[in-house]
Order: sequence, then C-alpha cells, then structure tokens
Amino acid sequence: MSISKGLKLVIPAALGIPAALCTAKAVAVKKTLPDVPSAVSWTSEEERQYAEKLSAMVKVPTISKKEDEPYETFLRFQETLSGLFPRAFSTLEVHDVNGNLLRRWKGTDSAKNGILLMGHQDVVPVDQVGWTKDPFSGAIEDGCVWGRGAMDCKSTVFCELQALEELLEEGFAPKQDIWFFSSRNEENSGGGAEAAVNYLQSQGVRLDLVMDEGGAIVGGMFPGLKAPVAAIGVVEKGFCNVKFTAKSDGGHSSTPPKNSPLVRLSKLMVEVDKKLPFQAKLVTPMPEILDNVAPYLSFPLRFLLANHKVFGGLIKTAFVHLSGQTRAFVQSTAAFTMAEGSTAPNVLPDAASVICNIRPSIQQNAQQTVAVLQKIAAKYDVETEVLFSRDASNTSAPDSAEFKTLETNLHACLPDCVVTPYLMTGGTDSRQFERICKNVLRFTPTRLTKAQLEAMHAANENVSVSAIAEGVKIYKYLLQHR
Ligand SMILES: [Zn+2]
Repeated sequence: MSISKGLKLVIPAALGIPAALCTAKAVAVKKTLPDVPSAVSWTSEEERQYAEKLSAMVKVPTISKKEDEPYETFLRFQETLSGLFPRAFSTLEVHDVNGNLLRRWKGTDSAKNGILLMGHQDVVPVDQVGWTKDPFSGAIEDGCVWGRGAMDCKSTVFCELQALEELLEEGFAPKQDIWFFSSRNEENSGGGAEAAVNYLQSQGVRLDLVMDEGGAIVGGMFPGLKAPVAAIGVVEKGFCNVKFTAKSDGGHSSTPPKNSPLVRLSKLMVEVDKKLPFQAKLVTPMPEILDNVAPYLSFPLRFLLANHKVFGGLIKTAFVHLSGQTRAFVQSTAAFTMAEGSTAPNVLPDAASVICNIRPSIQQNAQQTVAVLQKIAAKYDVETEVLFSRDASNTSAPDSAEFKTLETNLHACLPDCVVTPYLMTGGTDSRQFERICKNVLRFTPTRLTKAQLEAMHAANENVSVSAIAEGVKIYKYLLQHR
C-alpha cells in the first residue's frame, strides 16, 4: 500500500479529534536542519589510504566457521590487522579469547567504568549469483571498496581501529578504559561474544557503553523524510525457529485422501500470511522515532506523527499495511523458510513439515508469539516444535545520559542528518553485553545508500570510501568528547 493510500485510510478517521490542538502541536514541533559545517573533516589522501587498508582487510576471506572448526584464516586476518594498525596492536593489552580479539586501552582513571567498541571479523559465504567482481578482490572502484565484508562488518572494524590508531598517534589519553572486541563467529551465532563477556564479568569489568554494528546513516529510510537518518539501534527483536509437522498414514498418490499433510500445512501458512496474528503496538523506541522524525516532515505526515499519542492506533495500522519493513517495527513476524514432504512425486508423505523463522516483538515475547501460532496450527492438526528461541534484547533507554551524549556529538558531526533511536529487526552479538552494560547501542557512523544496504549478505557488497573516512573521524570525535 502506498503512503498516500495509507493516509487516506487514517486521516478521515482522525476527524472529530480536537484538530486545532493537533495542528498547533504540528506547527510547534516544526524544525529545519541547521546549515552549519560538520565538526569533522578529512583529506583525499586519507581517503586513499583508508580505502587501501579496508581493501587489504576484505582480501582475507574470513568466512564464518563453527566454534570448533580450525580458524587459520582468522589468524591471518589478525596478522593483517596488526600490520595495518601497528600502534593499536602494540599498545593495547591483549586479552584474546579463543581467536576472538579482546583488547584494552587503559584509561588514566581505572576507577571509571570502561566503554567497548565492537564489530565482527567473520563474513557470510559468497555463493549468491550476480557478483560482478571477485568477492575477495577488495577492488577499489567508483569511489567504493567492493567485496564480501566491505560493509558487514569490516568497515565498522576498520573505522574503529583506524580511529584508535590515529588517537594513539596524536597522544590522546582516554580517562576511562577503551575496550575493543571482535568476534570470529558472529554470523554463525557462535560463542565468541559470550566468551568475551564471561571473561570481562569474571574480571569485574563494568562498561558505560557498548557500540556495535547495527544502525547506520541511511537516506530514504522514513517515508516522506528527505534528510538522511542516523539510526542508533537501542533494541533488537527476538529470534525463533519453529518446526510445524503434519502427519498422515501416507499411501499412494493415485487415491489421495482430503486434507493430506502438505494441504494442512498450506492452510496454516495461508492463514498466517493473510493477516499476521500478532499484537501490533508502538513501544519504545517507536514513539521516540516518531518524535525525532516528525519535525522534519511536511503536512499531513507531520500532523499525524507529531500527534502519535492521539493517532497511535491509526499509525500502527498504517505501519502494519505499508510494507514488510514497517510491519516488522510494530509486531512479531513469521516467515516460512523451509519445507519437506515425501521423497517421491507419487508418494503421499507420512509427515510433512515447514520451518518458520519468527522474530518476536518487544511486547509479545517468544513464548507468547509461538503460542499464537501453535493455536492456529492445532486447528489444522499440525504439531508445533520449538527448535530455537530467544526473546528480544533489553532496550537501552533513549533518554539515558550515554544516549544523549552520543546524540549531541552526532548532531555536531552530522548536521545534515536526523538522529534517532532505532528498533533493529535483525540481530547482533552485542546483546551478550547486556550482562555488564546498560547502554548497548548498535550504530556505525557510515553513510549507506539503499543499494548498499540491500547488498548486505548479497552480491556486490560495497561501501563508499568517503563514508569510511567520515566514520573514522566520527569515532575519534565521539571518543574525544565524552
Ligand atoms: Zn554483521
């Protein structure tokens, strides 16, 4: 459904609300972005050097391995890193855990809680069709670095390490400890981050802030908003895999009974697909996103979003209908991803099954979300088996001092952008750090186009050279202005 169509649904329903009050609010919140220079800048020579370094990182094919598989490639990657960032690798204390990098830059006041920057070393495989360049060439072309991991997540690792390298070179002395962590098995949901957190916890380490991949600076992210958005992930949805199985007595396909296993599974899938049966709700950070974005929109969107306390129900309904992306912001989702039936075309299956990948929302946890589906499955005589289940992460408060500091610093570095907390529909391994940190923020300060975002885990992954240069300088600014 288009935005205007969505609005046609919601605006008439708004009639009868004290319109004058709402209009006054929409007028009062209006803002324009300041026409001021950014607090950060860089040279074309720096861009050239940065591109070469990231390219060298992309050339090492660190395809994710299971926990117990050999990881020589990662040791080679770490050697590459120590050559590219000699100061960081010779100065920072080494606390590596099973091939996962954990380093500490000791602060001048060790009584203070530390902060931790993170990003993973591993990348997903390259078996997608459509690559126009060798995925591990690290080609530097058209102002971008190309290849698997160029964005996810080696650009984050590069920007963080390069910022540390330059700060060390400039003689910067942090007050609090700055930790750097890089897992080698994030894409595999491996145990790297958990092992690191176990170690830090055993040492009594407390952190004020963890910054990981997740949100970025993206244009065209919000309907009707022209400015790019710096989206800081404050929470990530849960993750479940559920197997639905329908059984029968099997038999020959020449005399098929009604309601055979695949048919019953189809009925379940059609019902779920027609209308997701989950609770839709605007919970933090959704109201905060609307508050941050509304001032920069034009009417009638500004009228509607600025008054989300009045029109919450209507906005929620519009989000459910606009797109898969907006729907994922307000409710749990269920995607049927794998299916199995009989092994021959003329044999009815004794049992057929489908796998459903579920992303539980904040308001409806994994158990509640699965229970909704289980009830529908039972109607069609389909059994439910939970294979894996995890609730949404904690939400890092968007009104915390850490978030506010980051927000202020980003306004200085990115005056052309709207800064907002953000709900992550995917996952990162930073959630493991909730045990030792209240503020786990998922954000890399690099600009990505829609095409670059779509190339994540797909063919032709790339990142702009200017984006990584800006990212390096923003990380430096954030560390210097705490
Ligand atoms: Zn990643």
